[in-house]
Amino acid sequence: MIDAENFFNLGTDYFSFIGQKCHFEIQKNDNPHFVSKNILTVVSDSDEQLFFSFSGNDGLCLTTEFGSIIHKNILGKFLSLPSNNAKALLEFFENYGYFFKMPPNETNIVDFSHLIQVTYHIKAALLLMNELQNVTINYDEILRLTLFLLLAPPIEMKITEKQTYTGYHDSVFKTLDSVITINDSSDYITIDNEDYYSIPDIIYGKSFNLRVDEYEDISTGEKFMYSYPGIDDSRYRKITVAYKNCHHVSKIQRLLIDFLFHFMNSNGVIKNVSFDLGIEFYGTSNLDLDDKMKKALLIIAKHVLSQEINHHVSRMKPIYNPVTLEPSWKAPNLLTALYFSLFYMKPKSEIYRKCANPSCTNFFLVKTSNSRKKYCCDACRNASNQRDYRSRQKKITKAGG
Ligand SMILES: [Zn+2]
Repeated sequence: MIDAENFFNLGTDYFSFIGQKCHFEIQKNDNPHFVSKNILTVVSDSDEQLFFSFSGNDGLCLTTEFGSIIHKNILGKFLSLPSNNAKALLEFFENYGYFFKMPPNETNIVDFSHLIQVTYHIKAALLLMNELQNVTINYDEILRLTLFLLLAPPIEMKITEKQTYTGYHDSVFKTLDSVITINDSSDYITIDNEDYYSIPDIIYGKSFNLRVDEYEDISTGEKFMYSYPGIDDSRYRKITVAYKNCHHVSKIQRLLIDFLFHFMNSNGVIKNVSFDLGIEFYGTSNLDLDDKMKKALLIIAKHVLSQEINHHVSRMKPIYNPVTLEPSWKAPNLLTALYFSLFYMKPKSEIYRKCANPSCTNFFLVKTSNSRKKYCCDACRNASNQRDYRSRQKKITKAGG
């Protein structure tokens, strides 16, 4: 009986971990060091444990101590949480434990806005994974998600006095920070009385001519000849200086530099990227990309997605299961387990799809080949059909009157 119930003996579990119940309380913030209006108090309760297992069929599951499933598909439940909703996230934590392992009987406070950002990064990674697998490529969406993972302010969050969580921040930014302006005027060319730097460019496959005047204005912030919104943005300046000077870096770093430079130089300088508001420019902008930039975007999107996941699964520990004599993994905390569920996703065969009912936030697991299933449940399909019917009736009435 126990055997039949035991999840771990089915030979289908890829990894498992033991979490702990915590108690939470949201308070209004009066700490000037915190950005958010809300702070969360986390008190760990070392007595009550939560058991998790991941299987290829059911995803990440909450199980009993002996391995029978209590709740399936916890990543799906997590993705279905409404955006920027503290109450819903807190309820998730009450049911499945906190993202991080907390020392027993210790009270810690955390800035709630950081936690919301962490959830946005997991959602963005999954949505990007889905988009990259779609037959029809939605470049606008891939651009938005990629630039969010790449350019949103890096998360650094204090978990306890001794532990800090840091999100993925691409190593290209270290390169950008370390580039020094080289003021040599030896390598420019002159076309029609204008001076240009001839920059080897891997997106356009040949040299790109960058006007010396424009480069000088961006790199010094002096606006002699050029003045456009965001020209004195410090990130744009670093990217432009790296674009001109920084050629002894890895191919992917160079591609990132080339892409960010061309995008901001011709589409608009980016002020910020957030999950809910998307790309925010200094001035007017457009999202159009030519074929070469589109090709580069897909490579960058895959790089960014893999870095986001790799950053978070690096603390997984391989273990050899003494019962099944099969390989398995041990997750240090729930956050890693959620990312590891993404790591084990097979976007070629199954994806999480957002319910097509606009008023529903649910994500459901579906075979990639199944293009017909658009709603998470019958209720959502009916609600959507009724709304379509009503809007058709309205049109008929209008046309008739
Ligand atoms: Zn739904």
